[in-house]
Amino acid sequence: MSEQWIYVNGEFVEKENAKVSVYDHGFLYGDGVFEGIRVYGGNVYRLDEHLQRLYESAQSIMLKIPHEKEELTDIIIQTLKRNQLEDAYIRLVISRGKGDLGLDPFKCKTPGVIVIAEKLAIFPKELYEKGLEIITVASRRNRPDVLSPKVKSLNYLNNILVRIEASLAGVSEALMLNDQGYVAEGSADNVFIVKNNVIKTPPGYIGALEGITRNAIIEIAREQGYDVREEPFTRHDVYVADEVFLTGTAAEVIAVIKVDGRVIGQGTPGIHTAKILQSFRESVVKEGVKVYTESAVHAV
Ligand code: PMP
Repeated sequence: MSEQWIYVNGEFVEKENAKVSVYDHGFLYGDGVFEGIRVYGGNVYRLDEHLQRLYESAQSIMLKIPHEKEELTDIIIQTLKRNQLEDAYIRLVISRGKGDLGLDPFKCKTPGVIVIAEKLAIFPKELYEKGLEIITVASRRNRPDVLSPKVKSLNYLNNILVRIEASLAGVSEALMLNDQGYVAEGSADNVFIVKNNVIKTPPGYIGALEGITRNAIIEIAREQGYDVREEPFTRHDVYVADEVFLTGTAAEVIAVIKVDGRVIGQGTPGIHTAKILQSFRESVVKEGVKVYTESAVHAV
């Protein structure tokens, strides 16, 4: 494979030379923010929304991103061009930067900026055909008044604890409940349930990341005439749903066919999920920023 170029603090370096300081507080404390972004056919999907979330996450933790959005857009585009990628997954990381061993973020003078673009290892096709078996776990979602799940921070320990429980149970994803027992989200994706043609996903205050895919799916489903509600629900509602699906940048839309041993619907991906996934896939090349045009023109 040809070399992979990674943007690290102002320059492009080859993968094996892409390194950060052990004093970077992103490494020492998970102090920083990030985005995972998808590129479809040379189109950076909903980049404006991803950047909005990134800058809001940074604002929330008082981290000043050392670039305007336009500059960051340009860096992303340069990274894709440099690696000749048309279909890719981008990891954009802003860390607090180098400090000392103490917690004080104000001792970190220069935030770190990293952009990694890779050819996406697409999830196996059969996953979409067969659907996913998941569980609910004992780990609860961070309370929004402690560390808001809306901040897409480098501190993913809450989610990692969920993933450990899932792995130990022999499944690849799990649902977290919030501190009151309402369903919040998966470890790296949002959750939707479908019952009698009504689609529900937990509202922001329940404690979930406001997924870009989640927002797109809400729009798409409404356009298709579904009654889509952001409404709290419990595990019971998941168990008795006609269909359950997860959404995320990497996963797109994946049907869930079993939750905590309860078979969902017919035990196969349902028609609503399939319809929504198809519309989503048709829409992804239309919205976002085109990489391979003369100037980086915002398509939307
Ligand atoms: N929740 C969590 C905790 C996530 O990490 C992700 C992935 N970014 C999502 C939901 C889905 O968000 P998006 O659709 O923006 O990828």
